[in-house]
This record gives sequence, structure tokens and C-alpha cells, in this order.
Amino acid sequence: MSEDRQVTPQVQQYRPVFTLDDGPIEEVHAFWLAGMSCDGCSIAAVGAQNPSVEQLVNARLPGLPRIVLHHPVLSVAAGKEFMKAHHLARAGKLGAPYVVLYEGSVADESIAAEFGGYWSAMGVDEDSGTHRPIPTATWLRDLAPGAAAVIAVGTCATWGGVPAAAGNVTGAMSVMDFLGKDYLSALGLPPLNLPGCSPVGDNITETITSVLMFLAGFGPLPEFDELGRPKWLFGETVHRRCVLAGNYEEGKFAGEYGERKCLVELGCWGPVVQCNIASRGALGHAGGCMNTGGICIGCTMPGFPDAFAPFYKRSPGSTLSGTISRTTGSFVSYMREFTQKSRNRTARWKRDGQVPSGWANVDGGFNPGEKALGGLYDYLKHRGTRFRPGSARQRELQAPSHRYLQRGAKSPEVAE
Ligand code: SF4
Ligand code: SF4
Repeated sequence: MSEDRQVTPQVQQYRPVFTLDDGPIEEVHAFWLAGMSCDGCSIAAVGAQNPSVEQLVNARLPGLPRIVLHHPVLSVAAGKEFMKAHHLARAGKLGAPYVVLYEGSVADESIAAEFGGYWSAMGVDEDSGTHRPIPTATWLRDLAPGAAAVIAVGTCATWGGVPAAAGNVTGAMSVMDFLGKDYLSALGLPPLNLPGCSPVGDNITETITSVLMFLAGFGPLPEFDELGRPKWLFGETVHRRCVLAGNYEEGKFAGEYGERKCLVELGCWGPVVQCNIASRGALGHAGGCMNTGGICIGCTMPGFPDAFAPFYKRSPGSTLSGTISRTTGSFVSYMREFTQKSRNRTARWKRDGQVPSGWANVDGGFNPGEKALGGLYDYLKHRGTRFRPGSARQRELQAPSHRYLQRGAKSPEVAE
């Protein structure tokens, strides 16, 4: 590959070729282009449930335009019939707004062209009479200026991903690398980025829906962060919503897979990775990395995969934070276990010093040290309030009931 190879966008001047009219939009075309991809993002999208692809293409969401999906695998049309809308959109003659969804990274097609080939392509160039396959990078270049929005789906499209890892021979890059800093869609938007390898399916359809609501005039443009990620989906680290996060705080770390403890010492990068899979699940609110016992390998991050490899090795930072957590956590954990034990006893069991459980022998009493600690704990808990079990205030409030019962017990009617 020559040093001065042109890998940046080939079109310098972008201009809208489609402008939105003032009437309600009834349908929006969606061109799904696949570059250097494994098709995993397509699989993730069709598994989405909130909303589902079926709801979008069948206009089942009230007030939203119908999506006319042009997908190389899912569309019923094939060959020339399938490519017709692509050509119309490229010529500015589609007659409806469209969005471009790009899956996979964008290869430097000039490398393949030198050898008379291509990396990824769709349709053929009939105009020139050569019938050469048209690279999807070319489709992206040609369709992006007129698109209402360009949405990069998955980590390969958003950041480059696995095909762009160190040593790649294809010159693979992300959609934003390919289109360049100055690119804006027909609506003035830079590329929207939905990372993940593969992304959570609902993240894909929810973002498309949000953009559609904006196009339909139903809502404001959703908020995106400085890298074009939907802020409400990628604003938090996966660690904050992890089902195992309490273990980290208490310094309980798994030594091998299968233990229901924090996985940071097995190589989890959750504390620094922006991802919502722990709270949203992978599919239908189920599954997802830590939810099923797996570590986070940072697949949503721009540095993936090189910055997180080797995946089986713990990060250097986790040694320090893990040691601090283990030190403070062991004390916190002991205190919580003690408090938990006392909260697992009724007032009667505490008074009697035994638990009448037929399930197991339950330690009903507390040793002198625990009693002293419990006394201090209760003192601090009740300090500053008149309301505590057995307090003078409580006895005062209960006195009428006691008096009534005492009178009742002495009356002849009740005695009978
Ligand atoms: S498993 Fe990972 S994400 Fe979960 S608490 Fe541990 S470090 Fe955080
Ligand atoms: S938790 Fe980590 S590995 Fe799992 S999807 Fe999120 S970023 Fe990727």
C-alpha cells in the first residue's frame, strides 16, 4: 500500500439533494449497506423488540412514517429490482426522504481496485457498460449527501472495529473516518454512531424511531454525545448497572468463571466502558455479558479490540482499584452481614434468643461483642428521633389500647 494513498472521502463538497417538504412524511426509505461486516448487526436488529423491525416496516407505531427497508438479505426483491431504489436515491429522484444505515467498516477500495477486485460491493455499474460491482463504500459516498441521517450500526461501522485492528490489510475505517469531519446529512447531522459488537438490537431500533419521531415532527432531535452516540444509551459505564456491582464494592472477586462475584480480576473492563447491556439485556431484556457470567471486553469502545486485548488478562488499573476495594470492602461486607443477620430476626425471636425454624438450625442469639455492636448501631439509628421500638413515646401512644384490653378482660360479657 503506497504511503500517499487516498483513504479519506472522495467527495469534498457535500450538498443536500433532497429537501423535506412541509407536509406530513408518510414513508422513509432506509438503505442498509454492508461493508466489512459479519452480519451480526443485522441479526441484532431483527431480534429487537422495543420496537421491532416488523413494527417499523408495517407502520405500527402511531404517527410515525412507514419504513421502506432496503436490506441486502431481508428484502424480498432481488437483483435489478432491489437496486432500483438505490439508483433513484443516488440520482436525487427517490421522491421520499431516506436514511442510510451502514453495517461493517468501510474498506479502502482503492487497494482492492489495484488488483482488479473489491472488498464489499452491491449491484453493478451498468452505466459504464463494465458491469463492475459497485463497492458499498461508493454507495455510502453517493447516498450520504442526500440522506436525512447516516447511522453507523455496530462497532465496525462506528469506529472501525475488528477489520480495522492493527495490521489490517484492507485500510478499513469507520463511517465517520470515511465521510470526514465536515460531513453533514441533508438535515445537518454528522453520522450517528451505535456501537456494539454486536449492538443491542433495541438500541438500533429505538434510535431509528427517535430520529423518525423527529422527522415526523413529533419530537426534538434526541441528544447525542461528542462522538455521536445516543447519550441516553451510552452515557453510563456498564459497571454502574452491572448485576455484580455490589460485589465489587464489597471486595468480592471471582477467581474463576462461574462464581457469582465481580469479574474484574478475570479481565472485566466494565468500570470504564460505556454500554447499557447490563440493564437492557441482549435480546428481549434477557441475557447480556455480566448477566450471563461473562466479562466486558469493551466492544462498544473506539479502542476495541486492540486497546482491550488480550481479553483474558486483567487491566493494570483494576489491580489498584481492586486492592482498595478488597481492603475497604472486607470491613463493609462484615458490617453488612452482621446487620443483615439482625434484620433477619423478628422482635419475638430476639427476645427469646432462638428461631423456631424447621428448615435448619438457625443461630438465634448474639454473642456479647455482637450485642454491644448492635446496641451502638441501634443507638445511632434512633438518635434524634422519639419514635423507636419500646420508647416512652410508643408506650404513651399504645396506652389507650392496653387500657381498653385490660377493661375488656375484666368485663363479665367478655369473660364468658
Ligand atoms: S463484573 Fe465488571 S462490570 Fe460487573 S461489577 Fe465487576 S468490574 Fe464492574
Ligand atoms: S458489556 Fe462490554 S463486551 Fe458486553 S456488550 Fe457491553 S461493551 Fe461489549
